[in-house]
Amino acid sequence: MFDSLSNRLGDVFGKLRGRGALTEADVRAAMREVRIALLEADVALPVVRSFVDQVTELAVGQNVLRSVTPGQQVVKIVSDALTEMLGSEAAELDLAVTPPAVVMMVGLQGSGKTTTTAKIAKRLKDKERKKVLMASLDVNRPAAQEQLAVLGSQIDVATLPIIAGQQPVEIAQRAMQAAKLQGFDVLMLDTAGRLHVDQQLMDEMQAVSRTANPAETLLVVDSLTGQDAVQVAQRFTEQVPLTGVVLTRMDGDARGGAALSMRAVTGKPIKFAGTGEKLDGLEVFQPSRIAGRILGMGDVVSLVERAAETIQAEEAEAMAKKMAKGQFDLDDLRTQLNQMRRMGGLGALAGMIPGLKKAQAAMAQSGTDDKVLVHFDAIMGSMTPKERAKPEIINAKRKIRIANGSGTTVQQVNKVLKMHQEMSTAMKKIRKMGGLKGLGALLG
Ligand code: GDP
Repeated sequence: MFDSLSNRLGDVFGKLRGRGALTEADVRAAMREVRIALLEADVALPVVRSFVDQVTELAVGQNVLRSVTPGQQVVKIVSDALTEMLGSEAAELDLAVTPPAVVMMVGLQGSGKTTTTAKIAKRLKDKERKKVLMASLDVNRPAAQEQLAVLGSQIDVATLPIIAGQQPVEIAQRAMQAAKLQGFDVLMLDTAGRLHVDQQLMDEMQAVSRTANPAETLLVVDSLTGQDAVQVAQRFTEQVPLTGVVLTRMDGDARGGAALSMRAVTGKPIKFAGTGEKLDGLEVFQPSRIAGRILGMGDVVSLVERAAETIQAEEAEAMAKKMAKGQFDLDDLRTQLNQMRRMGGLGALAGMIPGLKKAQAAMAQSGTDDKVLVHFDAIMGSMTPKERAKPEIINAKRKIRIANGSGTTVQQVNKVLKMHQEMSTAMKKIRKMGGLKGLGALLG
């Protein structure tokens, strides 16, 4: 799911992030590509339009284009908008009513309704210790009621005994009575499906809904059916008071448009995603996690968030300018190391910046961990301003003084000097690669 969309967007944003500065035209061009990528993923046109408009408006703002990392800021805006499009917060079942809480399952035949009924029942039983009763109201398909009974015995959840010849509303009434008398917490009603939406089906569901007054009415749709799934959802939304949607077959290789359009079209949250034929193949639908998966860069998003909190933009900009000129003294190194510390240390950063993992492994080998950063700061604090500006004047005698002053050793002082030297060399290389643009390329 989402693979090709994820690849397409990865290309678009890879290009954006590879550049130091962005113009409004760059952002608009990228948004045109985002638009095409979403349409190709089968996202409904009105949804794509409002998404792209919203993101473009935010992304061409001066705060973004003038920032130090405009490309990443744009990605962050897209990620936020995508999360919002998917529903922002995960929405769980709301069963806080006088028991039995009725969960009514609706949807087309073959959407995975019966399987999902059993999956949710299993989840309520295992995770929330609820006593669940299931009943099939499908009197059209001969084996439907038996199918649910078989699933029930597999997951050890009770099903309503079958009485031949009863109509859906009658079965619903009998199920409610049984659930009340026998002290069930939750009653799951698996309604009949059809191949297409028709009025008779809608009438039947409305009648059942009036009888059972469900706490939750969940529409089950097959995500593999793409745009059709969205249309089906729209029809159901108009006729039945839905409280949520379950998207099945999210384990398949659908392009993902159904998932992305569903919230906007129905106005209802996607509560669960079906992720397999097995009865534990059900996940709570987490918008931010799905958005992260689509963008393939959820970690960069949290990195930008953290950087924005900890680094003064001007401080970073001034540093970037100095680096670009190849001027980099021990004061700069000190500022840099402190920034790293404020951003959660080397470990946190390494997980977030592509390519930094290797650097971190090397640092770990040379014994550079977060504690060492504290020592380094003390060492540089014991130097005179002159020494920090011109490290080459630090001779053996000065090294001993610095080590004593900072409570460290001459070896550790040497390490700081070596690190500074290595970073200056790296800076010079970056300058040769084209200054800030080169730095951008190096960072991803
Ligand atoms: P119903 O007619 O809507 O009740 O559909 P069923 O529950 O009988 O499901 C139809 C088929 O889809 C069955 O073979 C299920 O095993 C399969 N199925 C249901 N949900 C999922 C899912 O999330 N992933 C996959 N791969 N298969 C599913």
